[in-house]
Amino acid sequence: MVGSFTATHLLLGLDRRDLGLRRVHSVLRILACLLPACIAAALCGALLVKIEFHGSAIQTLMTWPASELVNYLIILPAILTVRPRWHRRTVEGTTARSDRRTIGPALLLAISCVAAVFFDGPGSIIFPLPGLLLCALIYPIQMTALLTMILGTGWLTMLGLGVIDIGQDMAIPQMVVSVRIAVAFLVLAPLTISSAMAVRDDLLDQLREAADHDGLTGLLNRRAFEQRMRDRLSMPPRPGKSFVILWLDIDLFKSINDRHGHLAGDAVLQAFAATARACCREGDLIGRLGGEEFALVAEVSSQKGAEGVADRLREAFAAQTVHWDGVPVRATVSIGACHVERARRDVPNIFRQLDEALYRAKRKGRNRIEWLLESAPERRGEQQLVASA
Ligand code: GH3
Ligand code: MG
Ligand code: MG
Repeated sequence: MVGSFTATHLLLGLDRRDLGLRRVHSVLRILACLLPACIAAALCGALLVKIEFHGSAIQTLMTWPASELVNYLIILPAILTVRPRWHRRTVEGTTARSDRRTIGPALLLAISCVAAVFFDGPGSIIFPLPGLLLCALIYPIQMTALLTMILGTGWLTMLGLGVIDIGQDMAIPQMVVSVRIAVAFLVLAPLTISSAMAVRDDLLDQLREAADHDGLTGLLNRRAFEQRMRDRLSMPPRPGKSFVILWLDIDLFKSINDRHGHLAGDAVLQAFAATARACCREGDLIGRLGGEEFALVAEVSSQKGAEGVADRLREAFAAQTVHWDGVPVRATVSIGACHVERARRDVPNIFRQLDEALYRAKRKGRNRIEWLLESAPERRGEQQLVASA
């Protein structure tokens, strides 16, 4: 209890990311908390053994810390790295490593465990090390922590019972200490590697996030938007669903910059991004294509639903006032819109037609929506003729 209390008290002083083993020196920091806890527990244990059981305090001081440490190292990481479903990050576009489902590392670990039981001898203690290291390199940290917990517990039990015979007398306290330290190091190595891999994965996620998003609005940038739009449209929509695609350009934006300054223009762009997000559901795509031009792909149930998204966005933005230096700044948006009911691979063609529709909206007076009728190809052809004329 003294050990657990001391460890908990010290661990609570660590950063949350350290507790999840997601910083470069997390394992060392956790070890730095566990060692004093082991010593505190051993001191109390030695006192208790001396007073209550008239045993050897010195021997208790020698054996207790190693037992305490190996127990902590086996159990604690599995508890610390559990992440509830609601706590998991859902960064759009974060790609879980595809090799994580392979059973190869787990198989190697299982084979090396069987080999350790079969061969015996002092070296058999570290037979599972290559399997554990491979698991640490490939599986998520939660899985590695779980495997080290199972293996550590199993190893201590089997070494204690002599199922794995290392050819030493396990009744000698020195041998027990030596074996427990060996098992502690056996689980420490994969945990350290797994923690380093988790740090690397987090950094890659952050890099991907920065590479795919526009710094001012936080929306997808042009490259990421086009890529994801292509991916989304290459598959047919879910049954009963379809997509609305909007091409948007803020009206007379240059005059906002000229009248109120560039920073006011930036605030209008951010306000537009917030409005667009509010008009969409999670999973819909919104991108800033450049300057004051945006695009959106949202899942809808019908043509009416598609019109609803476009109308809501246009009206909400027109009704919005950005206050800049106490001066109200308002703007409107023109939209080229398209309702897509099937998989499409001609994305450049859709881009071109939406661009034409958008500029029709501009020509017709701005703050309006011009539709392409995806379900009526002859009408689309007609529209193209009008546009090219
Ligand atoms: P239209 O209604 O025809 O679209 O007119 P417009 O003034 O919106 O279009 P135009 O293309 O003439 O002007 C776009 C302006 O957007 C010009 C450019 O200085 C400004 N702009 C581009 N990127 C940014 C940005 O990141 N911040 C700000 N504040 N302005 C930007
Ligand atoms: Mg423009
Ligand atoms: Mg514009």
